[in-house]
Amino acid sequence: MKRRQHGHSHGRQELSALTGRLRQQSRKVTGPRAAILEILRGHPHPLMNKEIFAAMPAGRCDLATIYRAMHLLEEMGMVKRFDFGDGAARFELVGEGDDGHHHHLVCTRCAEVIEIEECFPSAIESRIAAANGFKHVTHKLEFFGLCPECQ
Ligand SMILES: [Zn+2]
Ligand SMILES: [Zn+2]
Ligand SMILES: [Zn+2]
Repeated sequence: MKRRQHGHSHGRQELSALTGRLRQQSRKVTGPRAAILEILRGHPHPLMNKEIFAAMPAGRCDLATIYRAMHLLEEMGMVKRFDFGDGAARFELVGEGDDGHHHHLVCTRCAEVIEIEECFPSAIESRIAAANGFKHVTHKLEFFGLCPECQ
């Protein structure tokens, strides 16, 4: 296992830098989008749309607005979608100049989430790509288990 070069840097980005990235891509920094970025910035782990909605100031927007905003932010590469196998999309901020690639260790009993910075050696991907004639092979992977509290 090798360590990733860059830790994902969400949580350390200034909100002004994030809204600046929105403006660079000529997207309006609507109130809800700025509020969503602020909420994600304050959370170290991926959030579901309904969790983002619950964290929004009351009456700021409806759940459908959150869904649309997350779709847009994902298209812009500002958030990354993660799948913990329960059918709910989860989103995390992506640091500037980072592709957001990393993994999680999830407790199957209490849903605690640990950020995992380790990743497969790239030789494995190269081998899989070469053996099947593929290019640009990547992977998605999450780990599951019981946390110390739940054992
Ligand atoms: Zn993460
Ligand atoms: Zn647990
Ligand atoms: Zn990986």
